[in-house]
Amino acid sequence: MQRVAILYDASQAVLSTFDLDEVLNHVLAIVKDYFHLQNGSILLLNEVSRELFVRAHFGHASVLENFSIPFGKGITGTAAKARRPIYSPDVTIDPRYIARSGSTRSELAIPLMVRDEVVGVLDCQSDVLDFFDNETVDLLTLFATQASIGLQNAKLYSMLQRRAAQLEAINAIAKRTTVELDFRELLDHLCVQLPQSFPVEHVFIYLSDENGAFVLRAHQGTLETKLKVGDVLPAGHVCISGGQNPQACNPFQCEAACFPSAHEEVCLPLVSLGRTIGLLICATRHKKSLLPNDIQALESVADIIATATQNARYVDRVRQLAYSDGLTGIFNRRYFDSRLVEEVIRAARFGGGVSVLMIDIDHFKYINDKFGHMLGDDVLRTTSSIFTHQLRKIDVVCRYGGEEFSIILPATQGASAASVADKLRRAVANTEFPGLSHPVTVSIGVAEFPANGVTRDDIVRAADIALYNAKASGRNQVCLAKPTAIDG
Ligand code: GH3
Ligand code: MG
Ligand code: MG
Repeated sequence: MQRVAILYDASQAVLSTFDLDEVLNHVLAIVKDYFHLQNGSILLLNEVSRELFVRAHFGHASVLENFSIPFGKGITGTAAKARRPIYSPDVTIDPRYIARSGSTRSELAIPLMVRDEVVGVLDCQSDVLDFFDNETVDLLTLFATQASIGLQNAKLYSMLQRRAAQLEAINAIAKRTTVELDFRELLDHLCVQLPQSFPVEHVFIYLSDENGAFVLRAHQGTLETKLKVGDVLPAGHVCISGGQNPQACNPFQCEAACFPSAHEEVCLPLVSLGRTIGLLICATRHKKSLLPNDIQALESVADIIATATQNARYVDRVRQLAYSDGLTGIFNRRYFDSRLVEEVIRAARFGGGVSVLMIDIDHFKYINDKFGHMLGDDVLRTTSSIFTHQLRKIDVVCRYGGEEFSIILPATQGASAASVADKLRRAVANTEFPGLSHPVTVSIGVAEFPANGVTRDDIVRAADIALYNAKASGRNQVCLAKPTAIDG
């Protein structure tokens, strides 16, 4: 009778908290102290995988790390399946017994039930043969009933908390997409944010490029991976083979998995206007830790990312239109002006210099007058494409206005800028322009930061004066700006 009273108090303690691990530790402490057992564990049932995972234990500690047992297997699995306590007084002759510790002789497994659902198993082991008498089995069974209520309370509470945190996160992400102007920053932020609100350890965001390949644009997390931003997702990756439905793939079966150290990856397509424009891949270190509800919430996140991606692409397109020249397709003066400011700041901070070429087609008015405006337009287009083809990818070719071009050569100074200018001059002079009976030539003025000016306007002015000098000296030539006078 006294044991029942103690048990009652113990049960109250179990019900006094909503924290799952606290509940489990209370339960095990009671099993250990009141029933004088050496080994005990609580296994929880994962409803998706139908496996029992050890969630808390005492005794054979090292043996139990990461232990899981299929529903219906072993003495614990059998108790879960049979939905009643299973007692094995001598495990050495029990064919159901799965050895976890060599010294165990008797084992009692009691299912933890809520209503008629098995949620886990309280497993008690002893190194003594037939350790559990009938009274102990009855009392432990009674206690297990109380414990399972506490357990379910804690699970419900944590699920509610998780859901609330996820809803809050989704809300915050959605808000951020409307205020975040830098799309790359938004993706990085998402990769940091998601593991805080979802049971995932690493997040990858892939976006499709113009050829339809999925390119890694951002990733964050604690799992080891060799993948880098810019990498292309291998063709036939298991995640994309299933079309637009999210797939949970087991990296051990998935050769192209992002994270060899993950136990599970969930791949969510980013769908906009019926097209898959990217992938959100979330990886977990723990098996089956993502519940269907989590995946549903992640789908909402994927939808938000898809919309934000589509918006960013529209913004890019609009920006591109605002910065490009309609006739030649190269950048316009507006772009040149803002880009040169950036390049000057960069050169001032990191060194390496930056040069500017101002280029004007010689006697262009004559070309127009003699051969017509249409042919003049062709000359402008051909000239701009000569420049683009002759230069590096990082050089910025712009139409400054009329038949004038301006070119930014980042990280280029002095003699190199002059020789690039002369290469362009020769390339134009050596090109045969269809419909023209004579060569087209250009005059070029070259100025550089910081020798010819430290602000955008000073540099452009210096290049303009050099261009004027090139014209005055007979055209079809390159002139360098004069160094600015040094104070003192
Ligand atoms: P210089 O050697 O001194 O540079 O002589 P130029 O004839 O090239 O100089 P000018 O500035 O007098 O002439 C520029 C001409 O470019 C005048 C203008 O009609 C023409 N032009 C400006 N924009 C366009 C355009 O978009 N298409 C065509 N076809 N012509 C243009
Ligand atoms: Mg001109
Ligand atoms: Mg001209």
